[in-house]
Amino acid sequence: MTKTKIIATITDQYDEAKLIALADAGVNIVRFNFSHAQQETTQPLIDLIHRLNDEGKTNLGLLLDTKWPEIRTGVRKESYFYKKGEKFRIFVDEAKMTKESDLFCDYPPLLAELQVWNHIVLDSGLMHVSVEQVTSDYLLVTSEDDCEIGSRRHMNFPGISLQLPGMTSKDESDLLFALEHGIDYIAASFVRTKENVAEMKNFLVRHQGLKDTVPQVIAKIENQEGIANIEEIVQISDGIMIARWDLWLEIPIQELPYVQRQLLEICDRYGKTCIMATELLKSMVHAPFPTRAEVSDVYHSVEMGADCLMLSEETAVGKYPVESVQLMKRTIQEAEKYLSCSHSNFTQIGDDALSEEKRLIVKHALLLADELKIKTMIVFTHTGKFPKIISGLHPNQQIFAFTTSQSVIDQMRILYAVQGIKLQEWAEHTSENQELAIKLLLKKRFITPWEKIVIVGDKQRGENKDPLIRITRV
Ligand code: PEP
Repeated sequence: MTKTKIIATITDQYDEAKLIALADAGVNIVRFNFSHAQQETTQPLIDLIHRLNDEGKTNLGLLLDTKWPEIRTGVRKESYFYKKGEKFRIFVDEAKMTKESDLFCDYPPLLAELQVWNHIVLDSGLMHVSVEQVTSDYLLVTSEDDCEIGSRRHMNFPGISLQLPGMTSKDESDLLFALEHGIDYIAASFVRTKENVAEMKNFLVRHQGLKDTVPQVIAKIENQEGIANIEEIVQISDGIMIARWDLWLEIPIQELPYVQRQLLEICDRYGKTCIMATELLKSMVHAPFPTRAEVSDVYHSVEMGADCLMLSEETAVGKYPVESVQLMKRTIQEAEKYLSCSHSNFTQIGDDALSEEKRLIVKHALLLADELKIKTMIVFTHTGKFPKIISGLHPNQQIFAFTTSQSVIDQMRILYAVQGIKLQEWAEHTSENQELAIKLLLKKRFITPWEKIVIVGDKQRGENKDPLIRITRV
């Protein structure tokens, strides 16, 4: 078992055997990328995962990644080869285009929002252009690269704050689908402000109906505006994803390592989940082994404090999906061997609503466990709040979080170091719950006889209603 969680992107090509193989290799959460995935073909897959989870064959969380309001070039009968230094025009009205080199952009406010000297990145980084002139009909731009541009190519606008909507009608439809089909996490694409996250959270709550929970919202940080507003985005979100594919199109690539370290540090400060995404083992899309640099990237992501690592093409379309997960898991295990969190700063435990008593319980449980070199902590939880707070402090212990609520189990799969375990019901007395939990962990060989463990309980039922900390020997 690793503390750092693994997310794998899957497509509707996955069947029961492939899902079980991924889960056995170490995947905690599967991701559906709704930039490409369709509701109709994803639904049977979701139903299958729910069934496999119910049968105990897998234990997988579900993440839906929304399509962002992307901007693309138009349809072309034939691609056009632009030469470095060539000047050409970008239109938002196809009817006004007259030359073969003219390019269409499907973002109507483009001419009002761009200025001379702005840069545009085309085709996911293959071509860069600079704006020379803005007229009422077109942008005159100069190509900085030799590049062939075909139909419907991506356009990125680094450093430019476009007035794009936070959510599109497709996103709304996909969120309703997520609510209906028991998705646990939404990865919100191209989050630029805290308002983008609030809008999505409000939408989910408004359409929650009789469900006791809504999916958690993970803000994908993919451009300079998201970075500039990161402090407030992190506070309102359940976590963030460092979406490195788009991020490196939006910032100079050499700045990416510094930016990702900053984003990890801010998540750490607020105790929020941080997912490191994209190209971690990219070579394994085609090859049975990664590059040395990729293994280092996985290792350093863990070392820097990522809570989850995400595989994209490696598992979605790659030739070696299971091998990719196995290798990622082995590398995480190696990195975690040498990880040690010092836990000296407890200023940011939980949110403002957390009582002082609970804050102190979390703090001292971790300090006790660290000082006594205890490796395992049992947490009893009704709402998942304690495990979430403890996870946010990057514990040196493996946390087994016992609850009777399936939705709490579902929401804890993303949490660093936390393994949720479902109890059928709470026993009348606290001591019975503790005995049961210890027996279960012994049976599964997660703990060994005579091992010292720490037990933390949120409000207990029965004779002892106060939160507790206990150190005991198994
Ligand atoms: C990314 O940009 O790195 C990412 C994970 O998002 P997408 O797959 O939507 O490009």
